[in-house]
Amino acid sequence: MSPRPLPTTSPEAEPFWEATRERRLVLQWCTACDRVVQFPRALCPFCAQSFLEWREATGLGRVYAVTIENRPEAMGAGEPYAIALVDLDEGARLMTNVVGCAPAQVRIGMAVRVTWEPLPDGRHYPLFEPAGGHP
Ligand code: ZN
Repeated sequence: MSPRPLPTTSPEAEPFWEATRERRLVLQWCTACDRVVQFPRALCPFCAQSFLEWREATGLGRVYAVTIENRPEAMGAGEPYAIALVDLDEGARLMTNVVGCAPAQVRIGMAVRVTWEPLPDGRHYPLFEPAGGHP
């Protein structure tokens, strides 16, 4: 895979990216209505309260949608790769890459778990790989 551009962040998303230094996947939750909040913000989009906190996610999920980038040279990469939307068990949906298997083997509904790609600044980028044993 090509060198990944450093993710841009915002004050609201800073805790997410800081946690990746320790390879921890965290999600913002509203403690008033107990729902996962995506994307990070200052007020809950469901109840407009500001009782938000960060909780560690299991890192487990399923592929919701997948597309294969067959022109990797256009993206500066060497080989085709899978771009996927992954639904985490907690309910958040991430755009990511599925690695650890051939892109054509990535299936909708496939169980995946988070794995981390180091970034030059010490943070990590969340990728996903097949999770065979996840029910
Ligand atoms: Zn809420």
